Amino acid sequence: MIRSPGGFGGPGSGAPARVGSTGGWIEVVCGSMFSGKTQELIRRLRLATIARQKVQVFNSALDVRYGRNHIISHDRTRIPSRPVKSAKQILDWVVADTQVVGVDEIHFFGHELVAVCEELANQGRRVIAAGLDQDYRGVPFEVTAKLMALAEFVTKNLAICVVCGAPANKSQRRAETKRRIVVGAGDTYEARCRRCFAR
Ligand SMILES: [Zn+2]
Repeated sequence: MIRSPGGFGGPGSGAPARVGSTGGWIEVVCGSMFSGKTQELIRRLRLATIARQKVQVFNSALDVRYGRNHIISHDRTRIPSRPVKSAKQILDWVVADTQVVGVDEIHFFGHELVAVCEELANQGRRVIAAGLDQDYRGVPFEVTAKLMALAEFVTKNLAICVVCGAPANKSQRRAETKRRIVVGAGDTYEARCRRCFAR
């Protein structure tokens, strides 16, 4: 399985913070459903909190899976979060001394999230953005793709195909719906590999 090169001092290694003094950066944690994106986001945010860095976390107000004031992974670990209606609201809510900004489910946001993350990083903050890289058709989410291109660090998580057990990077939708974003996970999607993914 492809994992992030956390060993070279990147975000996965818990590298010492340089935020504010020598510049910020963007980390993207992406992948399919059930690949542990939110878990990884929460892990990095917790490490920053343990290091007494000032952390703020945001999620889309569209994402109401488990409750509005937390982000919660499928294994039920949680961290407080502020839901925002648009990416620009993140800039309104970030306070001056915040060093680390986490954003979950970035695919819920529009293009303006890219500029918002760029601005936060240019202000010297560490930005950790997590979300889906592809929709249920296997089409890239533009916002994730752009952020991956601009980010200093990209971690692409893989799930395990429920059909054959191979590494899976597709989110197979089981319910009959044409909407691109369906809130909810458990019985709506399953992880599939390239060969087992049915378009
Ligand atoms: Zn498979």
